[in-house]
Amino acid sequence: MRTIGFIGLGVMGAPMADNLVKAGFDVVGHTRRPGGTDRLVAAGGRHAGSIAEVTRGADAVITMLPDSPDVTAVVLGPDGVLAHSDPGTLIIDMSTVRPQTARLVATSADAAGREALDAPVSGGEQGAIEGVLSIMAGGSASAFDRARPVFEALGTTIVHVGPAGAGQLVKAANQLVVAGAIELVAEAIVLMEASGVDPALGLDVLGGGLAGSTVLTRKGTAMLERRFKPGFRVDLHHKDLGIVLDAARTAKVALPVGELVAQLMEAVRELGNGHLDHGVLLRGVEHLSGLPR
Ligand code: NAD
Repeated sequence: MRTIGFIGLGVMGAPMADNLVKAGFDVVGHTRRPGGTDRLVAAGGRHAGSIAEVTRGADAVITMLPDSPDVTAVVLGPDGVLAHSDPGTLIIDMSTVRPQTARLVATSADAAGREALDAPVSGGEQGAIEGVLSIMAGGSASAFDRARPVFEALGTTIVHVGPAGAGQLVKAANQLVVAGAIELVAEAIVLMEASGVDPALGLDVLGGGLAGSTVLTRKGTAMLERRFKPGFRVDLHHKDLGIVLDAARTAKVALPVGELVAQLMEAVRELGNGHLDHGVLLRGVEHLSGLPR
C-alpha cells in the first residue's frame, strides 16, 4: 500500500490527502474544481487530470465525494475507477452515501476482481485536519486489514463494523444523533437568550454536566456568535437525513425525532441556508419563534 489515488479534494478530502502525504504515501489527487489539487501538490502530492490518470498504478483509490450519484458515476461509470484500475486495486469510498450504493460498489468491484470498502468518517473538517477522524468500515476483513495503514493516517477511532454497507449504516446513525444534538443546542441557546440569561455562561455550565457533548464543544460558540461558515453544509446533512429515513423504512423502524429533525433541516435549507454550516439550525429555531423581535 504505497500509491493512493484520491478523488474529491473538498472540505474533507483536501486535509485527508495532506495527512496521507505526511504519513509517507505517494498521493495522486483528482478533483473537479479547477485548481483543486494545488494544495495537495504544494504539500508534496501529485496532480491527476482525469479519473483514469488518478487510478492507473494506484494500490488504493479513495473517493470523498458529495453524494451517492457522484460515487456511482466516478467509481462505476464507463470512464470510472473500476474501468481503469489495476487488478487488486482497493477501492475505498469515504463519502457518506446510501448503504445500497456501498453494496452496489462492492458487488461490482467483486465481479471485476477488485475489493471495495465503504469507510465513511465522522469528526468534521477539524477532525480531518488533525487526523483524528472516526472511521467506520464495511466490507471484508481482508480488505479492512489492507486499508488499515491508510486509515491510521487519517483517524484515531477505526472500526470494522461489518460487511459492505455496514459502514454507511453506522454513519447514518451518527448523522441522526448529530442533527438531533445540534437542534437541541440551538433551542437551548435561543431559550437562554430570549429569557435574558447569558448564553455563553450557560453553555459553559452545560458543557461540564450531562448535557456536555462534542457537538456542544465544537459548535456551541460558533452558533452563539452566528458564525455559519461550513464546516458541514446543511445541503449535505439534509442528504444524510434522507439516507437515515430511507434506512429506517428498510429496517421497518420508527424514528419520530429523526423525522422531525429532518423536517427542520429541510426548513432551514428552504429558507436559503443550504450552503451554510448545519449550526444554522439555530436560525430555524429563531424563525419559528419570530426572532429577532
Ligand atoms: P465538498 O463538497 O467540500 O467536497 C467534495 C469534492 O468532490 C469537491 O471538491 C468537488 O469538486 C469534488 N467532486 C464532486 N464530483 C466530482 C467528480 N465527479 N469528480 C471529481 N471530483 C468531484 O464536500 P465535503 O464536505 O468534503 O464532503 C464530502 C463527503 O464527506 C460527503 O459525502 C459528506 O457528507 C461527507 N462528510 C463531510 C463532513 C464535513 O464536515 N464536511 C464530515 C463527515 C463526512
